[in-house]
Amino acid sequence: MPFGRLRGFQDITGLSAARFTAIEAAAREVFGLFGFEEIRIPLLEEKALFTRALGEETDVVQKEMYEFEDRSKTRVALRPEGTAGVVRAYLENSFDKNQGLSKFYYMGPMFRSERPQAGRLRQFHQIGAEALGTDSPYADVETIQCLVLFLKRAGISGYEVKLNNLGTFEERAGFREALRAYFKPHLGKLCGDCRNRFEKNVIRLLDCKNETCRELARKAPLLASHLTEESERHFNEVCEALKVAGIKYRLDPTMVRGLDYYTKTVFEVSHPKLGAQDALGAGGRYDRLVESFGGPNVGAVGFAVGVERLAMCVTEEAAAEEKFLEDAYFIVTLGERAFKEGFKILSELRNHGVKVSMDFSGKSLKSQMRGADKSKSRYVLILGDNELENGTCTVKDMRDGTQQLRLLDGYLASLVAQQRNKTC
Ligand code: AMP
Repeated sequence: MPFGRLRGFQDITGLSAARFTAIEAAAREVFGLFGFEEIRIPLLEEKALFTRALGEETDVVQKEMYEFEDRSKTRVALRPEGTAGVVRAYLENSFDKNQGLSKFYYMGPMFRSERPQAGRLRQFHQIGAEALGTDSPYADVETIQCLVLFLKRAGISGYEVKLNNLGTFEERAGFREALRAYFKPHLGKLCGDCRNRFEKNVIRLLDCKNETCRELARKAPLLASHLTEESERHFNEVCEALKVAGIKYRLDPTMVRGLDYYTKTVFEVSHPKLGAQDALGAGGRYDRLVESFGGPNVGAVGFAVGVERLAMCVTEEAAAEEKFLEDAYFIVTLGERAFKEGFKILSELRNHGVKVSMDFSGKSLKSQMRGADKSKSRYVLILGDNELENGTCTVKDMRDGTQQLRLLDGYLASLVAQQRNKTC
């Protein structure tokens, strides 16, 4: 084979593809419930959009973007995340003028040229939601509730929601000064990355995984002492309303996010199944981003989850359910007459929208049953000469292995009726 996949890029096939589809369906259902509308934004944008939104000194902008000059000499980049594009689209399509609040959700591939490892890819998929045009702490809570219900609907449990208050840009400026003063005498002990962060983005020092840096970070000043009454009040209201909504969370005063645009509430959902890269999803408020793109001074809040990581956390229970496609049928035939009858039934059922397949190879019962297994159909209709003589068929439930003899016409009519009810 002359070609292989690029490092950090994946083909998504079989059960993984089905799991992706199920996760996306859960997102559509739950986001719809919360009044978020789908938005499809381009994969390619001007590079400056991301630099402005995420911050010049962030890891994503500094080292992870797939960027190049296109034929018209514009510097472009494959999107590393969705929020910047959504905000651009919100302004470019004048949503800020037409409506007070705009709620969007998106799903699709993102690109970051990171070092590939378990749970970290160069092309990965995110599902995200953004509420633009709101300052209310209840919007933060609504967004978090939407995330939590989506996880539940996607068959994920055992996660933890962590919460922190990052304050405003002005409050963080004071905090940065305090951090610099604290870390300065320890510069020699910091890792190379952190020495760089000390100069350019000192808050990210708190996020370093290196043990020595972590030890120092544990004793570093906390942002809490730099917050004003206004942002404390906002955060307290978020915490109160989360309790009202019945959402469990843990306060994590050391949690800082990798992107600069966040203000006030930030949150992260982690899962023990994920190992070192344990973040399933993350988000927060970004009150200055719309304005920094030339729009009105309006608040916004959103989140994004990683679909590959979600798929890794689907519970065994949910995975077992995936094993069989419920309303799917497979026709197995014995002999030429049964084959022809089977094909007629196949065509008729498909005309009525029933999901049904059949093996045309004319091989043995055993071989056809293997095909049925592979198709993951929950039910197999077995037709042989005896059954045809008596106007019956044997129906095998592949989940528990039980078999029943049914009257053929009545059974087929019930499948058609069932399908009709489903589509009504
Ligand atoms: P972020 O946009 O960095 O806040 O990431 C949000 C979520 O996207 C993370 O919690 C992960 O689930 C997922 N994610 C981010 N980067 C990657 C990556 N390189 N590979 C796989 N998933 C990722």
